[in-house]
Amino acid sequence: MKYHIWTVGCQMNVADSRKLAAGLDRAGCSATDAIEDADLVVLNTCSVREHAEDRAIGQLGRLKKQRTRGRDFKIAVMGCMVGPRHEELARRFPYVDAFARPQDFAPIMRIAGIDDSGGEFWPATFATPDSVTAFVPVIHGCDKFCTYCIVPYRRGREKSRPIEDIRNEVEHYAARGVREITLLGQTVEAYGHDLEAGSGRREAGVDDAAPDLGDLMRAVHDVPGLARIRFLTSYPKDMTARIIDAVAELPKVCENFNIPVQSGDDAVLARMRRGYTLEEYIEKFELVRSRVPGVAMVTDVIVGFCGESDDEFQHTYDLLARLRFDKVHVAAYSPRPGTIAHRTLADDVPAEAKQERLHAVEQLEARISQEINARLLDTVQEVLVESRREGRWTGRNRQGKLVHFAGDAAPGQFVEVRIEHATAWSLQGTALPAPVPA
Ligand code: SF4
Repeated sequence: MKYHIWTVGCQMNVADSRKLAAGLDRAGCSATDAIEDADLVVLNTCSVREHAEDRAIGQLGRLKKQRTRGRDFKIAVMGCMVGPRHEELARRFPYVDAFARPQDFAPIMRIAGIDDSGGEFWPATFATPDSVTAFVPVIHGCDKFCTYCIVPYRRGREKSRPIEDIRNEVEHYAARGVREITLLGQTVEAYGHDLEAGSGRREAGVDDAAPDLGDLMRAVHDVPGLARIRFLTSYPKDMTARIIDAVAELPKVCENFNIPVQSGDDAVLARMRRGYTLEEYIEKFELVRSRVPGVAMVTDVIVGFCGESDDEFQHTYDLLARLRFDKVHVAAYSPRPGTIAHRTLADDVPAEAKQERLHAVEQLEARISQEINARLLDTVQEVLVESRREGRWTGRNRQGKLVHFAGDAAPGQFVEVRIEHATAWSLQGTALPAPVPA
């Protein structure tokens, strides 16, 4: 059977798609890039933004046309569009053969005619890496219920994977040439709180505590061949000094935090039910900056959330100008059916105001990122080479910044690159000649 997996959304979706592909391969199926050749088409969907959902619905429309023209193939919809109850989706898209919640691959295996009921199939199935970097989900779901967010309803409650499972997966990747892994979770610092006490703590005297993200980083740190460890996405309240210290102490863990702030105004944060005040956020931010030298800070911001006044938006703008993040992911709020905000708050910021605020943040951030990156001019950056595009090599430095460069290199190598040009989005330079072995 030939299959095609179409994926939108976050890195968690990318990781899920890779895992499903590995399972289908293991069961004797083969991947095809051509959707019209596939016997099984899986759409791995995202509901975080309306645009992503519209893209999946567009794909479904095209698949329906292929069906009505008489082509015989199976269609599965997986990911965040599929909630615990999917009767409405089934009514709306009656030609879909299977709906599968995130990480629940069983309905897809059923329509592919594959028996995976033994319970041992998926834990022993790891994606085949197609790059020198890999995403490793470590905690699934989210317990936070921010009012605008659909994730807890679609991905369920927080559930950590055992440390041993994760280490096995990292060893599998490293043995196949992966040099850098990213430990993934919607709230990655929540890792371990639901695991058994002592099931991974390495320090003496804390065996009565469950492992945390720092313990996990220590547990995978010595995997042979692995050179870099990243982690994504941070939730300010779950971040502890102990985890921050682990990042600072462990040489393979990269100095790069993505800590979404979402708003710079306490009243908006309360309406979002983010669970922290601005002061608490800034305290964590400063703690990271003071303990992790050379750290790159990234954040996410939503503009135009329900009831956001000009003043409230200005507080966000002022915060970004003050904290000077290396990078800001900004989005205009769009209500997601099923969320608390959709049920209880009016989406009352006019579309033009949302767009203006979006552009204001984008412009501010372009200037700040450019200024921060310009400080790297004439420095030498350690780059993990990932790929070659349009005659140039591409990789990232430890802080996660994209670097394009000329010179001798190969994917998986670490190359020293002298930075000659910097924009808000990337750095450009030339590889230094490799040192001659003594
Ligand atoms: S922390 Fe909030 S925004 Fe992030 S996934 Fe959980 S509910 Fe959504």
